[in-house]
Amino acid sequence: MRPLISGNWKMHGTAAQLGEIVAIAAAVRRVPPGADILICPPSTLITRAVQAAGGQIAIGGQNCAAEISGAFTGDLSAEMLTDAGAAWVIIGHSERREHHGETNEIVAQKAKAAWRAGLQAIICIGETAAQRRSGHALSVCAEQLAGSVQDGIIAAGNAIGYEPLWAIGTGHTPTVAQVAEVHGHIRECLVARFGAPGEGIRILYGGSVNPANAHKFLSVPEVGGALIGGASLKAKDFIAIIRALPVPAARVEHSAVA
Ligand code: PEP
Repeated sequence: MRPLISGNWKMHGTAAQLGEIVAIAAAVRRVPPGADILICPPSTLITRAVQAAGGQIAIGGQNCAAEISGAFTGDLSAEMLTDAGAAWVIIGHSERREHHGETNEIVAQKAKAAWRAGLQAIICIGETAAQRRSGHALSVCAEQLAGSVQDGIIAAGNAIGYEPLWAIGTGHTPTVAQVAEVHGHIRECLVARFGAPGEGIRILYGGSVNPANAHKFLSVPEVGGALIGGASLKAKDFIAIIRALPVPAARVEHSAVA
């Protein structure tokens, strides 16, 4: 499975930051990484980011509305993101769930909208620190996964982002064993639900990934890439994470073990 290394710029970035995308694209052109590379800047930058990327990396949105159009002041439809040049969209990020009241049902509607508009989606799930402490990490992720994805709308090439909330932007990360356990469980759920196509859905790890820890997480079985916040803002860090991808032979070995 070709990994996906994705960056979520959140509410950071104006035209002044487009040079970071130019630099990432140049690095990818110089040494092709054997992975799909994606940056999700603020929506205001999508069209210019696509130009800056020069076809070397994909550009995505960070959210979309479930509706196609209508009286939804301030919202953007999945079709509008496609029109702006986006190829991907992040759905159900924990910051959307927490600050905008997005439930699993809303996330599922948005994922359906992404599918309708021809966007690939990264659908995010993850447990809180309290849920992990009480031993519910796996069941919370399974429940979010079940509720956030509708039958029949999971596109090949879509991804699930496993992002433990307590690891996002905190510098705290799970152990390799914890990541392997959750990713293995997500894979089981995907295959139980979707059969063979569930094998092809990439499961990304997200939460304080940086150049120093990326290789460790990207080498874990069933980790099909990363979703990166802070460290995606600077081309130097993001490129270092891309270069931390294990060589394909190592990945094959891991899957054989798994
Ligand atoms: C994120 O926002 O999806 C994220 C993982 O952020 P960070 O890498 O900064 O923890």
